[in-house]
Amino acid sequence: MFDFAIIGAGISGASVAFFLKQAGKKVIVIEQDKSASGGSGAAGAFLSPKIGSDSDYSHFINDSFQFSLDFYQKQFPKFLKKPGMLRLLRSPSDILKCQAHEQKLPRHFTYLKAEEVSHIKKEACRYGGYFFDQGTIIDSVGVIDAMLQDIEVVENTKVTSLIFEDGGYQIGSIKARGVILCAGHNEGFPQSDYCMLKKIYGHRLDIQTSAFLPFHIHKKYSVSASENQMISIGATHIPGYQYDATKDFTSEIDTLLQAVESYVDLGAYEIKKVHFGVRSATIDFFPVLGALIDAKATLKAYPYIAKGSKVPSTRYHYYPHLYVHSGHGARGFVLAPSTARILVDNICHHVAIPKRLDTKRLFLKYARRENALKL
Ligand SMILES: Cc1cc2nc3c(=O)[nH]c(=O)nc-3n(C[C@H](O)[C@H](O)[C@H](O)COP(=O)(O)OP(=O)(O)OC[C@H]3O[C@@H](n4cnc5c(N)ncnc54)[C@H](O)[C@@H]3O)c2cc1C
Repeated sequence: MFDFAIIGAGISGASVAFFLKQAGKKVIVIEQDKSASGGSGAAGAFLSPKIGSDSDYSHFINDSFQFSLDFYQKQFPKFLKKPGMLRLLRSPSDILKCQAHEQKLPRHFTYLKAEEVSHIKKEACRYGGYFFDQGTIIDSVGVIDAMLQDIEVVENTKVTSLIFEDGGYQIGSIKARGVILCAGHNEGFPQSDYCMLKKIYGHRLDIQTSAFLPFHIHKKYSVSASENQMISIGATHIPGYQYDATKDFTSEIDTLLQAVESYVDLGAYEIKKVHFGVRSATIDFFPVLGALIDAKATLKAYPYIAKGSKVPSTRYHYYPHLYVHSGHGARGFVLAPSTARILVDNICHHVAIPKRLDTKRLFLKYARRENALKL
């Protein structure tokens, strides 16, 4: 019997599998398609900090950015492309906001005035930008495969239900004491419905061009440094879109390219590949990780939770050994290694998960929403 079956071989599943394996657990990853075929395979996988604000969210992003960068650098350095990233500022107020929070920025940044910025159209760098030495792109498919290298992965196997009996979850011929849902938006698993994960679709483009860019650039969209005459550009955000294989996305792609061409000269180019994928996000944009609460059973036992009464979370009903690790939104490669570390410390050493990331906050939001819908 496995200690854990991890459902989904994207960056969330690969990160949890990696740390559980390091902790001595016997793990298996089950993937409906092939590894890195979901949102993770579509990602440009730019790693950059969040600048210009001093919120709980930006601290979380920047701490995770530093953690993940150190993690990839130590474990998988050959998948990093680290020529640095220029974050262009958009207005005078951007300059003031960023300067006010400079001491909170990750290490190694330099403010460049307009005249010091190169490789950007003059009219687009009026307010200068921050250059981060550590701005990076990661080879998304390569790093996921490397993380899963010594781990059993079963591909082309869709998990359709999760029933716990005789001390474990039987998934086809696989039996595991515990399960970790890393299946993106987790659709089809009613146990995680209360997390209310939403889907945000997006495109990333690989173009072939003679244009030379020595570093990555971010303004509204990200543009990679050029390598072997290829540049990666991303990504569009299409919230609320219902998947339709016949939909034509020409106008979204044109808008993306026009926006990028307003700040970078792409030269004569040819689109070589359009990647399309889905990001999953929570309603407060922090990821969600931890033990899954049986929302219906808990609300039946303590219906007044829905009206705001407090019940200690130790009294909630939980699904046996069932966990979630998802909702990384547009920054899965920045966040997943650090949140996987937190989840594995919780599972193996009972270290508490910070409230802003745990499943309870979403359960309480769900309970209150259900109550409001009834009124
Ligand atoms: C166009 C685009 C650009 C992006 N750019 C960046 C970026 O620059 N930087 C960054 O950090 N992030 C970026 N992201 C976000 C990042 O890709 C996501 O946050 C990340 O991929 C989420 O990883 P995941 O493992 O949770 O989900 P996924 O990668 O979607 O993995 C979930 C896996 O679960 C599998 N699965 C689902 N249901 C089942 C089932 N029932 N049984 C078995 N398997 C199942 C799926 O096939 C899939 O492989 C981008 C995303 C997109 C779409």
